[in-house]
Amino acid sequence: MNTALNRSWIEINLGALENNVRKIKAALPKGTVYIAVVKADAYGHSLPRSVVRFLKGGADMFAVANMQEVSRIRELVSSKPVLVLSPLLPDERRLVFEYGATPAISTLEEALDFNSLARERGRILDLHVKIDTGMGRFGVWHEKAVEFLREVSKFSNLRISGVFTHLSSADCDESYTHMQMRNFTRVVEEFGAKNILIHLHASAGLNYIKDGAPFNAVRVGLLQYGISPFGGRCKTIADVEPVMSFKARIASISRNEKRIIATVSAGFADGVPSNFSKNACVLVRGKKCPILGGVSLDETLVDIANASEAEQGDEVVFIGKQGGECIDLPLYSHWTRRIPWETMVAIPRRVAREVVNVK
Ligand SMILES: *Cc1c(COP(=O)(O)O)cnc(C)c1O
Repeated sequence: MNTALNRSWIEINLGALENNVRKIKAALPKGTVYIAVVKADAYGHSLPRSVVRFLKGGADMFAVANMQEVSRIRELVSSKPVLVLSPLLPDERRLVFEYGATPAISTLEEALDFNSLARERGRILDLHVKIDTGMGRFGVWHEKAVEFLREVSKFSNLRISGVFTHLSSADCDESYTHMQMRNFTRVVEEFGAKNILIHLHASAGLNYIKDGAPFNAVRVGLLQYGISPFGGRCKTIADVEPVMSFKARIASISRNEKRIIATVSAGFADGVPSNFSKNACVLVRGKKCPILGGVSLDETLVDIANASEAEQGDEVVFIGKQGGECIDLPLYSHWTRRIPWETMVAIPRRVAREVVNVK
């Protein structure tokens, strides 16, 4: 690791990432297929640096949002299936053959188009069918899903290798979640799905997995990066550890009669938002130091009266540990009025990704 040239950087704890995947997998019913959700550059954790760790931890398959993300995985891993969660535009569809991706479909138009593309190439295309059980995003509405699945089964160049749905409120509404699970289970049973992947659980949903059946795969995003989707309201199925820390340096210090102010080398261009709440802090020399606001493109002003011995060049922690103190990602998110998912993906490319704990 060489942070000497970095004015702001993220540290990615690869050992923690690998352990998280392993622990989550161990907590699942035996034989459950682990689909690692790595869209948005592995939620900002650098796909190229983390991809091997997902595999070592036991990921069986990857999921992303679009074909560009599939192509980035294919530069690194050729063997594992990659599911594309979002619908593909007509122009993008031929690429699934080029890159070996598994699309998710929910309309007959997609089925027709994929079938003819597959036929032209003399191929049989594996795909998953997305069912809407009450989220209201894309997906075939569950009341029409059995009929749709039967239609798609008739296409000779398509093979349904999975069916899935997405829970809208697994973190906060138990009865709605049970209703979605019932809707989905009914479709799966009526269709008589055999030897295909059946999945519904994302991070928050994992608490509902119990004995598994009829589900035999899960799609894990946030939790594998060490962050609970519940914000401390309930326990997660595995005791995971945060992977991402966000740091910068003291660029300069100015003193007046009232205050000692550090100019910290990260601003909006490093993803530091300007709307910090009043009590927001960073860590300097292991002490909590209040953010004064004054976030500009490249800098943030911090009152370092609590760490008056600090010097130019010192490390400043926005997210992570220092000394005995910790600002975890959910707390930082709370201060910036974001949810943890947003925090992770909002840290731009300018911020270097440095690997720690490689062992
Ligand atoms: C992003 C996404 C996930 C992962 O969700 P987490 O809450 O981060 O675990 C799972 N399924 C679908 C369809 C998604 O779009």
